[in-house]
Amino acid sequence: RPESDPLLEVREARKTFGGLVAVNDVSFRVRKGEIVGLIGPNGAGKSTTFNLVTGVTPLTSGEIVFEGRTITGLSPARIAKRRIARTFQHVKLSQTMTVLDNVAIGAHLRSHAGFASGMLALDRTEERQIFAEAARQLERVGLGERMHIEAGALSLGEQRLAEIARALCLDPVLLLLDEPAAGLRHTEKQALAGLIEDLRADGMSVLLVEHDMDFVMRLTNHIVVLDFGSKIAEGAPEEVRANPAVIEAYLGA
Ligand code: ADP
Ligand code: MG
Repeated sequence: RPESDPLLEVREARKTFGGLVAVNDVSFRVRKGEIVGLIGPNGAGKSTTFNLVTGVTPLTSGEIVFEGRTITGLSPARIAKRRIARTFQHVKLSQTMTVLDNVAIGAHLRSHAGFASGMLALDRTEERQIFAEAARQLERVGLGERMHIEAGALSLGEQRLAEIARALCLDPVLLLLDEPAAGLRHTEKQALAGLIEDLRADGMSVLLVEHDMDFVMRLTNHIVVLDFGSKIAEGAPEEVRANPAVIEAYLGA
């Protein structure tokens, strides 16, 4: 594992919901240009960890440091401006809007404070730039031919690619992908893996939540394992796969 500077440092991150400890003092790092896998059984705290990093959910305690500066307590829009982008576990496209409109409007709203400062406040030049960027990112993920149809007409794999395009409009240095391969066909998974490798080659760092172990193993050289909110293992894919605590967590689920 290359010893370059950490891009993201999650320090003793904790999140409780009432009596439930969803994320239990978890620490890990993502370095520049690295793809890190975040795995664990359902309910392990993976999506909550994404929500903590992106400011969707406030930390109960702990700290998130990005590019050497704390981002703890910043709003999701401020964190997006620091160039951290994410996709959600469940596809969030408006099924009746075109793919292009979804990507352009969604990306714009995420980088702004709220609906009040949404599309209404834009002049024509800004609007044209936003749509041009959305089209460029849709081309990048391989949906150039499909951008003018309704999102509901896309396959699940294409919908997930559109969500990645929307995240890429924020020009991220760190991209968080929450189960991007779930429900995809084999060929769609291959295309997605190729895209993630391309993004890394372009210098992006990726934090990848994924259940398909082969998919994770192929893409990452470092994996963090959560179980019931706690980090139970961390290391190279082969190490993690052979770790008795990890085997137990998966078989015991
Ligand atoms: P994973 O993504 O690893 O499947 P989650 O992070 O979604 O797990 O959930 C971790 C735990 O936190 C689960 O027990 C879940 O029910 C709980 N949880 C997540 N979000 C909330 C919330 N907003 N309110 C209450 N409990 C939550
Ligand atoms: Mg989840």
